[in-house]
Amino acid sequence: MEYVAILLVVFVAFYLFIHQRYLKQDALKDSAYKKKGPILNQKESAFYNALLSAVGQQAVVMPKVTMSKVIAPKATDKKQWFIANNRIAKSYFDFVVCDPRNLEARVVLELDDGAPLNKGKVERQKLLMHACKSAGIPLIGATVKHSYQVGKLRRLLAAHIDLIEADKEVRFCKRCGSPMNIKTASQGDYKGRRFFTCSRQPQCNYTENYNVVFDEE
Ligand SMILES: [Zn+2]
Repeated sequence: MEYVAILLVVFVAFYLFIHQRYLKQDALKDSAYKKKGPILNQKESAFYNALLSAVGQQAVVMPKVTMSKVIAPKATDKKQWFIANNRIAKSYFDFVVCDPRNLEARVVLELDDGAPLNKGKVERQKLLMHACKSAGIPLIGATVKHSYQVGKLRRLLAAHIDLIEADKEVRFCKRCGSPMNIKTASQGDYKGRRFFTCSRQPQCNYTENYNVVFDEE
């Protein structure tokens, strides 16, 4: 009888040990969750909707994308890779405009909410600019006023995404007054981006950034 009791105690102890150690599903009960509010605030939603109508069916807009889903450290050294990865681990891109065929990131948009610059905001902008530049992804800084300027937004995007056709625009050369043509860069840092060239090439070499209209604003 004693023998059976000891065996039972050992068995129960063993069961409790296993249960504690490996069957911890119950522990999840201690971490309940509640739904947060909308993922986008009012200003972000307005901008998101403007972006959607600017790209139409030609691109997919993804809001709040974790940076590490879009970019990865170039470093081959383990320690450097870790440091670089840590820098982006907790950050996200406001909006990523993707190729609809495979969701490859084509353009990153940062929405400036108009709040005053503070240390955190400056740090974020530095990180964004560095990350996008080194990864070769165009970064567009947008403001809330773009939410009401779908045509301008479309033109900003069309400079970087060949799938998007902006409304026809006629420009004249600032050097010789001839009409200008739209071309797409076939090589170099700006490969795939559109720009204007003078139709009198090679007599006139004037070229213009596709976005120059907005840069001047
Ligand atoms: Zn010209």
